[in-house]
Amino acid sequence: MNDKLKNIIRVVLLIVILVLIYFSIKSQNTLLENKKISQGIFAMDTYMEIQAYGDTANEAISAAIKEIQRLDALLSTGSDESEVSVLNKNKTGRVSDDYAYLLQRSKGLWESTQGAFDITIYPVMRAWGFSDKDYRVPSDEEINNLLKNTDASKINFDEETNTVLIPENMEVDFGGIAKGYTSDKVAWILKEYKTESALINLGGNVWALGAKPDGSLWKVAIKNPYKKGEYIGVVSVKDKAVITSGGYERYFEKDGESYHHIINPENGKPAKGGLASVTIVSNDATLADGLSTALYVMGMDKAINYWKEYNQEFEAVLCDDLGMIYVTEGLEGYFSSDLEYKIVRK
Ligand code: ADP
Ligand code: MG
Repeated sequence: MNDKLKNIIRVVLLIVILVLIYFSIKSQNTLLENKKISQGIFAMDTYMEIQAYGDTANEAISAAIKEIQRLDALLSTGSDESEVSVLNKNKTGRVSDDYAYLLQRSKGLWESTQGAFDITIYPVMRAWGFSDKDYRVPSDEEINNLLKNTDASKINFDEETNTVLIPENMEVDFGGIAKGYTSDKVAWILKEYKTESALINLGGNVWALGAKPDGSLWKVAIKNPYKKGEYIGVVSVKDKAVITSGGYERYFEKDGESYHHIINPENGKPAKGGLASVTIVSNDATLADGLSTALYVMGMDKAINYWKEYNQEFEAVLCDDLGMIYVTEGLEGYFSSDLEYKIVRK
């Protein structure tokens, strides 16, 4: 056999091997894709769904659902027996590690957002009827009285004994951060079960675990705050939480005015910072949930300044009242939209 022929045979063999490798990887992916398990559950006042891939997906999801139910029972302000309600009533006591963690994160957020995120806004939320859906517009006097006892920094926490002391007339609600925390816990449990690919959707709070089974990025659509059923764009992510807050999610109307469920602790009224929605992308969903609420309260300028200071920790997509979209630098190339948008740089 001459050298030329040998070379041709070598090349042909190499091509055959490469093709075989390609199809074996592809069939493995298809296999993994076929092992998709998904389960839905109603908890924390919203519909949640977990999609996971792989051999252990079934057990992983069962464990995750149990954790969601456990946290829901612990954190629900709607139930008198929840840990949150018991502490709101008794004002002091030893708390669970979950409560302690959420309290410390919330106090940290209160500080960094200069009070825009405040878990003690609960009595004001209740005055507006958001807790029992019996909506009303409270008087300025009523609001101002309640605001006297709104200040998360005044809650005392003793790390050594895990003991909390809440001032008289103050009450706590982790509603602005609970779903993000829950999604962090779910992601952690799925990882414990060696799940490499999953999509956790807790009522629009999304945690994209790993990449998709075929190795590509997860695509998470961001709702259009002005047009139901439409989207302002898509972020492509892996191992990131994508969490959105907006005034369009929960609101009521009275005398032609619309009132939503994100309260500005400065005046006790639904925040009017000029933003229609705030999406936070981060590998810390607890932070992302808290910040989606806080940046919405702050409004565009303060929100962008906050990002400039803490840009190591998160990226954001901000949609303002005029429909303009602002996307922070780190998402450049990972955000796509048919609409016009601006990149915000450091
Ligand atoms: P959703 O829970 O609808 O996804 P958010 O994450 O923005 O939306 O949380 C809104 C919830 O946070 C409210 O229902 C209320 O319980 C709580 N909340 C409202 N305003 C504030 C605030 N300024 N700081 C902290 N929590 C807030
Ligand atoms: Mg939030």
